[in-house]
Amino acid sequence: MKVTGFKATPVLVPMTAPLRWSMGVETGTVRTVLELFTDDGLIGLGETYGGQEIAGRFEDVKQFFLGARPVEVQKVAAKFEVFRTTSEQSYLTIQLRYVAAALEMAFWDLLGKEQGVRLCDLIGGTRRETVPFVAYLFYRYKNKESSVGGEDGPAGIVEQYAELKEKYGFRGLKLKTGVFPPAVERETVRALRQSFGEQIEFLRVDPNQAWSAATAIRELNLLKEFSLEYCEDPTFNLEGCSQVRRAVGMPLATNMAVVAMDQVAPMVRMNAFDVVLVDPYFWGGITAVKRLAAVADAFNFSLAIHSDRELGIGHTASLHLWATTPSISHSYDSHYPFQADDIITEPLRWSGGACPLPKGPGIGVAVDPEKLEKYHHLYRSKGGRLEFFDRNRPDWVPRVPLW
Ligand SMILES: [Mg+2]
Repeated sequence: MKVTGFKATPVLVPMTAPLRWSMGVETGTVRTVLELFTDDGLIGLGETYGGQEIAGRFEDVKQFFLGARPVEVQKVAAKFEVFRTTSEQSYLTIQLRYVAAALEMAFWDLLGKEQGVRLCDLIGGTRRETVPFVAYLFYRYKNKESSVGGEDGPAGIVEQYAELKEKYGFRGLKLKTGVFPPAVERETVRALRQSFGEQIEFLRVDPNQAWSAATAIRELNLLKEFSLEYCEDPTFNLEGCSQVRRAVGMPLATNMAVVAMDQVAPMVRMNAFDVVLVDPYFWGGITAVKRLAAVADAFNFSLAIHSDRELGIGHTASLHLWATTPSISHSYDSHYPFQADDIITEPLRWSGGACPLPKGPGIGVAVDPEKLEKYHHLYRSKGGRLEFFDRNRPDWVPRVPLW
């Protein structure tokens, strides 16, 4: 079986209400869905960050994958190795990294379908059949049409967690912070602990670099009484986080300061982080994450899955990654419950706070052609959605540190 053609479709799926973060507002998710066609009729599915600009890049690199057999998945992925390093051409290299991620995902999907085995069995074998999650909580603007959202302080967030806990069975949470002054967010954490106590097994915060090093040191010391699992990106860059970690002694995680393999050695030398968040996109693919996992084992840091509004193909690929990679030792958190819809036929489901791996071969999901068309049309009519800036506050400028 050989890959004979492809189709890359950008889509926009809205959020049920606008999600706030330190640098702006997330109103939807823009993704490119890749379908690889083969000479025997099987279709391989991949997903990656970005819209038409990324979708158009597959044509530029088609000589890297057209004619290749699914079993050559890692050979195809290796052709993009140079684009996984930090470069002054980052505008272009990152596009090719995202392209490589979708291609590798789709090749694994094809290989699994060809051999009748699941992706997890191709990349190491599962350690468990369900992947544990914590809730991902956001301060939100209100959706003016549906009245969903509007959480702007402790009471709203406590209610949001209660709803997600009831519906999905989560036993922990990550609170997206860096939106309000630190004292408001600290009171939100306090309200969550007061309301749910030890029922919250894991409690994370993620200010996305909004705090200065001094603010981060002060705030994390004040947050210690609430037993945080870790804080993601309290301040910017390796130097800042290294200072904060030394001063506070609380585990720190990142998906902003360490985003490529060449940044891992300085991170280890500077003792800057305990946890690196990975996904199959910005790390460049499943094989790249597996390579990082070996480094994590050798240098005694752990991994967690980075969530950034995945749709069902990419999200399920990350479930396979979680289930087969012991270095990914933290539960998954996801925007998915806030996304209005998906482009796969059977959207993800949670029970008892965990999401099961699908049973079918490859990634184990199928595209719903009507939804793919519907959200492609939405992308074409509304365009991409930048998550930076805030339309509700036109004079506001994102910057770090904010506080
Ligand atoms: Mg983060």
